[in-house]
Amino acid sequence: MLKRTQFTLPAAQEVEALNASLDRVRPELVLEWLASNATAGEVPLVSSFGADSVVLLNMIAQIDANYPVLFIDTGKHFALTLEYRDELKAHFGLNNLHSITPDQALLKVHDPHGALWITDPDACCNLRKTAPLASLLVSRVGWITGRKRFQTEHRTHLRILELDGNHLKVNPLANWGAADIADYIRSHSLPGHPLVPKGYVSIGCAPCTSPVSEGEDSRSGRWRGSDKTECGLHI
Ligand code: SF4
Repeated sequence: MLKRTQFTLPAAQEVEALNASLDRVRPELVLEWLASNATAGEVPLVSSFGADSVVLLNMIAQIDANYPVLFIDTGKHFALTLEYRDELKAHFGLNNLHSITPDQALLKVHDPHGALWITDPDACCNLRKTAPLASLLVSRVGWITGRKRFQTEHRTHLRILELDGNHLKVNPLANWGAADIADYIRSHSLPGHPLVPKGYVSIGCAPCTSPVSEGEDSRSGRWRGSDKTECGLHI
């Protein structure tokens, strides 16, 4: 596998070459490759502390409990998600977990009553998720996501590494299926999100998340009843 001496944004051709290697290895090895090639702050793990998040958090904690982890605290999360975040922080001894919050002045102007998610969910996601993360990533090469191919049709062609504008997205779990995730959580006896047993298999903000029935796409409970399928972080 290619070894980099300085971690800068790779060119498209190099991403292809790296994907050819990384596609064949387990997610843990993708993270080890990343940790050995990039100083941690350059490519933080962005975690939603949702249904599957514990998998990557466990893997990253095994490599380095000081690895930077970012949580986008939109102000609209389930209280149980915030409790779960704190529980996992203590469980894994995550010493470098930071919560990113929306710009309060912008919230006052654009979402003074906290109801923008009803009238314009795209603008709400931009205000509460995309913009806060974008400002934090300005000086970084990229970030680690928890996306998987099986989740939606839109993600069918997801690769381990992908270029997105000026950033590199690292998707260590891209090749894993729902059974792989469940097996990993079970075999490592990891604490699950308390909403999962209630049918929430993909968990985002409380107003925009609903339980999923058997046979539905795992993300069908997000923005149910609308055409919206992504928050804007991954378009
Ligand atoms: S998921 Fe819903 S509440 Fe959360 S930022 Fe997007 S529109 Fe707003």
